[in-house]
Amino acid sequence: MIDAASWTVNVDEKLAVDKFNVDEENAHIVVRSRPSEAEFDKLVLCCPAGLYKRTPEGETEFDYAGCLECGTCRILCGDTILEKWTFPQGGMGVSYRYG
Ligand code: SF4
Repeated sequence: MIDAASWTVNVDEKLAVDKFNVDEENAHIVVRSRPSEAEFDKLVLCCPAGLYKRTPEGETEFDYAGCLECGTCRILCGDTILEKWTFPQGGMGVSYRYG
């Protein structure tokens, strides 16, 4: 029998194990200015790292630091609200340390 409680995962704890070498000089993902609200909200829901956010006032926020390089935002909105999507330069970005 499977105990559902044993399947609980704390995503923040899992992500904290990974190492990020952020390229402060060269953003590998850029969101267009004044993005479509509906398109942006897709990414608020779907980015596994939670990097697309709404402030309490409803403003949009995005920070590429902490990106998992999964490509979900590129697939969903690469033709609409993303101005740029590339992998980070060599030696930069995420280093997975678990799983
Ligand atoms: S590539 Fe994945 S983790 Fe990075 S910003 Fe896009 S959806 Fe989020």
